[in-house]
Amino acid sequence: MPPKLIALIEKVLATDSSLSFDPQKLSRFMLGTEGLEYFDKKQRRLMAVITLTQSYEIKALLDLANQCAIDETLAFSLYPISTGQNWGYGTSQPAGLSKNIILVDLGKLTDIKHFDSELGLVTIEPGVTQQQLSDYLQLNNHDYMVPVTGAGPDCSILANALERGYGITPYTDHFSAVTSIQGYWANGRPYQSAVNELDASDDKFVDKTFKWGLGPYLEGLFTQSNLGIVSQMTIRLAKKKADFTSFFIQMQDDALLEEAVPLIRQVLQDYEGIVGSINLMDQRRLLSMFARNPKGNATHQVMNNKEIKTLANDLQAPSWTIVGSIYGSVGVVSAVKKEIDVIFKQLPCKRVYSNSLAIVLTNKVINKLPDWLIIKIPIIAKVAEQLDSFNKGKEIMLGKPNKVALKLAYWRHKGAQGFDKDKLSPGKDGCGLLWYAPLITMKANKMREFVNFIRETCPKFNIEPFITFTNLKHDCVDSTIPIVFDLSNAQAVTDAHNCLKELVEEGLKKGFVPYRLSIDQQQWLLNKDSDFWQTVDQLKTSLDPHNILSQGRYNPN
Ligand SMILES: Cc1cc2nc3c(=O)[nH]c(=O)nc-3n(C[C@H](O)[C@H](O)[C@H](O)COP(=O)(O)OP(=O)(O)OC[C@H]3O[C@@H](n4cnc5c(N)ncnc54)[C@H](O)[C@@H]3O)c2cc1C
Repeated sequence: MPPKLIALIEKVLATDSSLSFDPQKLSRFMLGTEGLEYFDKKQRRLMAVITLTQSYEIKALLDLANQCAIDETLAFSLYPISTGQNWGYGTSQPAGLSKNIILVDLGKLTDIKHFDSELGLVTIEPGVTQQQLSDYLQLNNHDYMVPVTGAGPDCSILANALERGYGITPYTDHFSAVTSIQGYWANGRPYQSAVNELDASDDKFVDKTFKWGLGPYLEGLFTQSNLGIVSQMTIRLAKKKADFTSFFIQMQDDALLEEAVPLIRQVLQDYEGIVGSINLMDQRRLLSMFARNPKGNATHQVMNNKEIKTLANDLQAPSWTIVGSIYGSVGVVSAVKKEIDVIFKQLPCKRVYSNSLAIVLTNKVINKLPDWLIIKIPIIAKVAEQLDSFNKGKEIMLGKPNKVALKLAYWRHKGAQGFDKDKLSPGKDGCGLLWYAPLITMKANKMREFVNFIRETCPKFNIEPFITFTNLKHDCVDSTIPIVFDLSNAQAVTDAHNCLKELVEEGLKKGFVPYRLSIDQQQWLLNKDSDFWQTVDQLKTSLDPHNILSQGRYNPN
């Protein structure tokens, strides 16, 4: 890195911020679950990492990058991350392939700038994690839920919304819950909404209450894009309700999918606002949550029918499980639970509720047993382990973050059993994971076509076909297919990427279109000459004339 550039950058940084080009530190940011370095042989690299401690430095850095862009010897580009745990989509690695990328780590901007307890509106900086917000709400006795995801406590809330991620609390779609953004376009111009600009009052609060602002809606341009850096975001939090129960509808027969789909749709339409999103998981996916890989973790092979049958019998895992939650007053939860029970009774299924007497009592008994006894008696140990996962799943639905879902990423990890389950971090731990996350119309025949497609395609590449459907609305389902592989096995990495490629390419022919892409897919899937991406390019030219921001991120030009 040219000494002149180092001096220029250091001049704009706050005293406790840092610029590092130590190869060891840089390599930590290049650790991803995606295996890109082994697969596409395209060397992604970083020139430096800047860790900011003050949000005003964002503008100073953007201005500097624009000034330096006209001098070939000093030109550099910036790539912001918040917590850099975009596992399966790129982790903390930059999308672009150029030599002079400086990663801007915003993880130390952890201020909860404002919270209105009457309205449940919170304004946060990029580094605020799910756990930090959870602690803040708990400490101050605020009855609101964190918009948690399966990615867990250490992940940024703001960045997940910018990726247009979703969770399973009542405000499923995280960007939908964003009411206001402030930040900077790549050309250095500050962004605040027109409502904020017009508001002549001292606190300019009304902007935080209204998503759409005034005039063209520009805030969407900060999401899945490379046009600006967000320095703060206001999010509408869901209020905790007086009562809650989750429901687990278990169907033994795989063929019941077609009958279940209209019932799920009915529940979503009839109890909108009371029932959160609903997940539908197949048997293999359920086993990945509760069982150990019977093949041994490093085996590059899918489970055979006998192994699945043995595990399923052992854990009483059904072919399909419908999971959802009811939030409301005590009266509403009780009434809706009864009605939902009647709806699903139409199917041959087992219906389990988290507030049922059996579950409450089992929890009580297990909690009373000493640890040594639980460990000593295998059957009790198994029940305790399952109950623990079940309770953690329930916590997530109640907006309390935990790491229970991360176990999935270790399914094919050689040392899976050796990790402390409270410290899991798939990128650092060397897990192999990619996501195939297509949108599917919520019609039974389309969903069955998708199931067949996944079950035919994944095993061809020795990838376990784990299926989850998450209902974003009554009309649209997103399926997240985790492509889990052994990152230390070159053949497994190649197979995983080829599997994803076939899923995407063949899926498009069937109308299954991803809602989110990995940094690698962003390079080969998008057609730069299409009307859509040409328009994006026109915006890019205007907002980032020197192309100094997040090159290659959701932009094929
Ligand atoms: C087992 C497992 C379960 C998961 N479950 C979920 C889930 O339920 N829902 C879900 O959505 N995801 C899930 N994920 C995927 C992913 O890990 C999460 O989405 C995670 O929140 C993204 O990482 P991050 O928050 O650290 O974002 P970052 O990596 O910090 O950011 C993501 C990208 O956004 C951009 N960005 C970040 N900050 C800014 C900023 N301030 N301004 C402009 N651009 C910015 C950058 O390009 C960055 O690369 C899961 C992953 C695993 C392994």
